[in-house]
Amino acid sequence: MRVYNFSAGPAALPLPVLEQARDELLDWQGGMSVMEISHRSRAFMAVAEQAEADLRDLLAIPPNYRVLFMQGGATAQFSAVPLNLSEAGATADYVHTGHWSERTIKEARRFVTVRIAADEAASSYTTVPEPSALDLTPGAAYVHYTPNETIGGVAFPYIPETGDVPLVADMSSTILSRPLDVSRFGLIYAGAQKNIGPAGITVVIVRDDLTRRARAGTPMVFDYRAVADAGSMLNTPPTFGWYFAGLVFRWLKREGGLTAMAQRNRAKAEALYGTIDASSFYANPVARNCRSWMNVPFRLAKPELEKTFLAEADVAGLTNLAGHRAVGGMRASLYNAMTLEGVAALVDFMHDFERRYG
Ligand code: PMP
Repeated sequence: MRVYNFSAGPAALPLPVLEQARDELLDWQGGMSVMEISHRSRAFMAVAEQAEADLRDLLAIPPNYRVLFMQGGATAQFSAVPLNLSEAGATADYVHTGHWSERTIKEARRFVTVRIAADEAASSYTTVPEPSALDLTPGAAYVHYTPNETIGGVAFPYIPETGDVPLVADMSSTILSRPLDVSRFGLIYAGAQKNIGPAGITVVIVRDDLTRRARAGTPMVFDYRAVADAGSMLNTPPTFGWYFAGLVFRWLKREGGLTAMAQRNRAKAEALYGTIDASSFYANPVARNCRSWMNVPFRLAKPELEKTFLAEADVAGLTNLAGHRAVGGMRASLYNAMTLEGVAALVDFMHDFERRYG
């Protein structure tokens, strides 16, 4: 029995993709699984190339961008970005909107002079800066921001305008949730374990000219040029994750691509925020113009009931609704694989719980 899984990541994956992977597990293309063949075999190379082609299609990635399948998670990119895009002693601008931007900033400080272009501490990280409030440094190596804060549930409703300075985005928890104008970015990175596939692979989309600047001493596996030149196969890649990501990209295309995903994700988010806002029993602290479609944190007016809420939700087949350990409360993550029915079931449960305990 499958449950409705609201995990923030690793997160629910599309059922048809899981079924296909299951069906192909023992015998993929002749008596072996895809995990049991060389990454350099013709059969696997075809998987790898098709996955990239489908991702390019889904996001309409312009030809002057390279798609890299890397390892080390999004966290490895926290250091790979400064190592590849800045010289020693250079300055880079960072926008601080919550937990993940803070983690990024902390790591970046080891490599680059970080200037904070905006810090939303005053709102306890329930807002994003107005475009005009971004204090950008002329000539900075790049500007980094986190379009969707997975823990805070805060999302940028706009793409910052940075002129000639490359814009870098940690899209771990929002990539593929809606159409995106990739040409506005110098670099986009995302860990796979939310909207792409199992943990273990990191997608990097980088403008070609930005792959030529790595500092001397950058580890080879994090040097974008080296990785690009090797077709993301400098060493053995996580082949199963790559294969699985390819199946997810195929599924997204069958479902109507990112325009269809955006419609579905908007409907899911509206149903849940609508329920929260219609009642004084539930509350979401995030400013309305920047509420995430992917991660919806909420609290109960009676915090002493939160344990009961989570336990009863679990029994009702609604799992992994506990908020991040740093903040508590509840959080429902609504990535692409979460269905409208799943959100409807959560909303029904919330109404019922309020009726019984409100
Ligand atoms: N950035 C964001 C926005 C995230 O949500 C996460 C993980 N939840 C990370 C970075 C860290 O990713 P990883 O564990 O793949 O390094």
